[in-house]
Amino acid sequence: MKTSIIGYPRIGSQRELKFATEGYLRNPSQELELHTVASQLRKSNWQVQSGYNIDFLPSNDFSFYDQMLDTAVLLNVVPDRYKSLNLSALGTYFAMARGYQGEQGDVTALPMKKWFRTNYHYLVPEISDTTAISMTGTKPFVEYQEAEKLGITTKPVIIGAYTFIKLARIRGNKSVEDFVPDLITAYKAIIHQFDQLGALWIQFDEPALVMDLSDYDRHLMSMIYRGILAFKGNCRVLLQTYFGDIRDCYKDLLSLSFDAIGLDFVEGDQSLALIKRYGFPEGKTLFAGLVNGKNIWKNDYDQTRSLITEISRYCHDVVINTSCSLLHVPYSLKNEKNLPIDSKGLFAFAEEKLAELHHLKLLMSDYHPDADAIKRKRESKKICRGCSNDIDIQKTLSQLSEDDYIRKPDYDTRRIIQKNHLKLPVLPVTTIGSFPQSRDVQRVRSAFKKGKIDKAKYDDYIHHLVADCIAVQEEIGLDVLVHGEFERDDMVAFFAEKLNGFLLTDNGWVQSYGTRCVKPPLIWGDVSRSKPMTVDDIVYAQSLSRKPVKGMLTGPVTLLNWSFNREDIPLKTIALQIALAIRTEVLDLEDAGISIIQIDEAAFREKLPLRKRDWHREYLEWAISAFRLVHSGVLPTTQIHTHMCYSEFEDIIGDIERMDADVFSFESSRSDLSIVQALKRSGFQSDVGPGLYDIHSPRVPGVAEMKQVLMKILDIIPIEQVWANPDCGLKTRELQETLLSLKNLVLAVGEVRRQKEVLK
Ligand code: GLN
Ligand code: ZN
Repeated sequence: MKTSIIGYPRIGSQRELKFATEGYLRNPSQELELHTVASQLRKSNWQVQSGYNIDFLPSNDFSFYDQMLDTAVLLNVVPDRYKSLNLSALGTYFAMARGYQGEQGDVTALPMKKWFRTNYHYLVPEISDTTAISMTGTKPFVEYQEAEKLGITTKPVIIGAYTFIKLARIRGNKSVEDFVPDLITAYKAIIHQFDQLGALWIQFDEPALVMDLSDYDRHLMSMIYRGILAFKGNCRVLLQTYFGDIRDCYKDLLSLSFDAIGLDFVEGDQSLALIKRYGFPEGKTLFAGLVNGKNIWKNDYDQTRSLITEISRYCHDVVINTSCSLLHVPYSLKNEKNLPIDSKGLFAFAEEKLAELHHLKLLMSDYHPDADAIKRKRESKKICRGCSNDIDIQKTLSQLSEDDYIRKPDYDTRRIIQKNHLKLPVLPVTTIGSFPQSRDVQRVRSAFKKGKIDKAKYDDYIHHLVADCIAVQEEIGLDVLVHGEFERDDMVAFFAEKLNGFLLTDNGWVQSYGTRCVKPPLIWGDVSRSKPMTVDDIVYAQSLSRKPVKGMLTGPVTLLNWSFNREDIPLKTIALQIALAIRTEVLDLEDAGISIIQIDEAAFREKLPLRKRDWHREYLEWAISAFRLVHSGVLPTTQIHTHMCYSEFEDIIGDIERMDADVFSFESSRSDLSIVQALKRSGFQSDVGPGLYDIHSPRVPGVAEMKQVLMKILDIIPIEQVWANPDCGLKTRELQETLLSLKNLVLAVGEVRRQKEVLK
């Protein structure tokens, strides 16, 4: 039996690619340095993978920013507005990723969306009537040859044609079908080129096949692949699916001339049932996703081996594979020095998963001398996927009643009470929470964590920053202030560090988008709160202003979704445990006199099942309950905000309203305000703050531009219901650009307020 991986992390175990990219972005003359770092990272990945004797090593899983963007460039799907900037190839690429503002012009970035149910974000390719899809890029071939020069044969990985066209945004009058002939020609050219290079295999990633597929989708997929597979040369084609099973199109795939099909047996509930029911074609290879690419618990070898045995009854050529790309887990446990001794044996990060693939291969070949040793070593360790250790919290959870999830009085009544209590102007201006963080803050925070400075000094330092932040906001003229979140390096890790039941890693970085990485905490025990986590800082900030300062918390669904979760109890139970902990914090903030509390649910949608029919049964009900449990105990005067970003919310607007917050802010500037239309359509009653500008880009939006966006919103939603804010936290931005943007925002709102007043 052979082993394979779908893809590997690429940002560098010490985030080398992030720093090199940021260096280049500050100073484009450093392009060569960036390329050097990139090729070193690719080389070291291949070497590590070879070290574990993986048989199918991926190439082209590297990316400077995102693999969908890479595919767009490969296929000449570059909108004219970027081409006409006349930048270098890499310059154009980053202009699409991040927007561009400079001597050559001023353009916004492509929209960014969540990659299925992960915290990775991809750029949405844009196809217009004038787009001429054709294979014009070279990256996959260059990287294939680069590996070859190192003596390594790789299996190039490319986003498949169906997923590409399904996720792209088609603007204009043409329909998907109009682009299919060119798309087929382009993919044929890709195969042809690899065939010329002598590649043995090529992997087309088709995660979009695990979604609900209509008859039209199935027809489209078959049409595309019948066309593409007409030419293969000597190159074999693997159709790789992941993030679920492909129950809607499995049968269709069997009749297409793929040489191998990759199925996910971890998240794909039906994968086994599908091969049992419909069989697996003789002569084809099954790449079986058995090692979880999305979570960090050790593989249960016994269970996996019996699964492989079962699979082998239906299919004779099985390759042991990861369930998805390892992009979604950290590099290696080798970089962790501070995990508790008793926990370390429970986890497997990317490199350890390579070892697991190798072990499984040995274990499946009964005669191998190492197999026994592996078996003995594994048997001596209990396979554990979480630990229950807090009887009190289990008891509290079991005693919750319906009423604990219902806030009183109802929204309409609260709304009037809060308007009178808070007396905010029309179109209140606020921010989403964090302010830019200088290198200094990061240094001081890390010195404090390492015990190099004491708590009094640290608090003093943070308080200075908070004071400056409040002063700046007063000066700019914002209406509802924030303390700036200087004490937090990450909205999830900050709480995870303080709550019981979570573990933090030193270097467990996972790419979120572009150069941005997160360190997801590991939930391994029952979650509870020992003492207040945010009250001191917020109360201090509030003491400096007569304007309301928002309490700032991360919600239970996001804390869960942005952590690696335990697998021994249901997600619902974990979410409710976290909700109880955050609830006590909300009540403490209220007791301390804070009148507006924001509970961020940036990742609210993340674990929503990919198939619609499973949404309510499996997910939304408990996610909404967990959020409601957090705030159901507050006074009518306390205004509860929540902030949601990065994903599409349009199809769950009704559910979002059931979260029963008073004010919702949405990321929307990169999705053309379509959320606003959806809010209108659904008759959304609560206050809303659709983001007025994109904070993921360094460009400073002008007054007229934001005014125009705001006017567009006000054409759709009554002014009494609208807030004005950026579309997300400002932490990743530079201070100067932020101040300019916020000043422009306040000016834009001022103009709109005056204009509306005149019209009255
Ligand atoms: N309050 C957080 C911040 O401003 C929200 C971040 C987010 O939505 N990702 O940083
Ligand atoms: Zn956000």
